[in-house]
Amino acid sequence: MDEKMRIDCPVYLLTSAAECWKCSKPQSVVAIGTHQLFDRADEIGDLSDQTDLILLSNIGSMPFEVFKYIGQRNHRYMKRYSHTAEATYFANTCECGANFGDFFLFSEPGGAFFPETEEAAAQIKYHKMPFSGALPFECSYHQGVGDFILAHATYEAA
Ligand SMILES: [Zn+2]
Repeated sequence: MDEKMRIDCPVYLLTSAAECWKCSKPQSVVAIGTHQLFDRADEIGDLSDQTDLILLSNIGSMPFEVFKYIGQRNHRYMKRYSHTAEATYFANTCECGANFGDFFLFSEPGGAFFPETEEAAAQIKYHKMPFSGALPFECSYHQGVGDFILAHATYEAA
């Protein structure tokens, strides 16, 4: 698992839908985004550029209040053991019990948080979570698609 990162607020909760690989039912799935983080000494992203977003995945740990906030909005978001990643991390799960792997959601072109079309990006809704300062996370992160998501997703007041 990765070392602790420092995630700078504002942080966003993104919501979209993904079809379960096991039972084929569409489920609500969530992701966390930020404008800037510190990966050890490396500053990633830019807090002053709020048109871009970095997405967090393979989250092994996060502050409890952040998990509590997300869990109240999506009770199928929980810590699970992933055989693929051979680690325990926060995952979106289906009502049938299956996990949505983060690779499937974030790294597969066309995944819920890797939209390839404007229509797919427009399926995503996001809002600012009520936290401030810097938050410690153990996670990986994705860059490159955040500006496309923000350009087409729907912003909702929290
Ligand atoms: Zn399912």
